[in-house]
Amino acid sequence: MSIRNIIAGLFGYGKARVNVALADAFKNWERPADAGELPDDQLRYIYDASKCPYCKSKHGLFEGPRGGASVNMFCGDPDCDSRFNVVDGKIWGFIPWGEFTGRCPPEFIEQRRKEIANVV
Ligand SMILES: [Zn+2]
Repeated sequence: MSIRNIIAGLFGYGKARVNVALADAFKNWERPADAGELPDDQLRYIYDASKCPYCKSKHGLFEGPRGGASVNMFCGDPDCDSRFNVVDGKIWGFIPWGEFTGRCPPEFIEQRRKEIANVV
């Protein structure tokens, strides 16, 4: 570890600097056609921003069913309709394992459309 990193850590600059780098780097992910493992940078974005990496919706992510160490996350934008299965960061912190698992349950999408319609 360099002296600069130690000093930055003492004053709490380390985290902010990382966040700036993340925000700049993560802009052009496309929703894949098929389910599959998520790259580490997309997992990090989900963990840091609590948003879907494909649409980056202001509606954020909603927690679905849990199983073992993982939790299902549903994109809050019903037009995006993306679902993820990631390690539960609230319990385990950031662990770079997770999958894009396709579409959300139809009843979740239906409920989100109602909620959004009522807010507007
Ligand atoms: Zn989305």
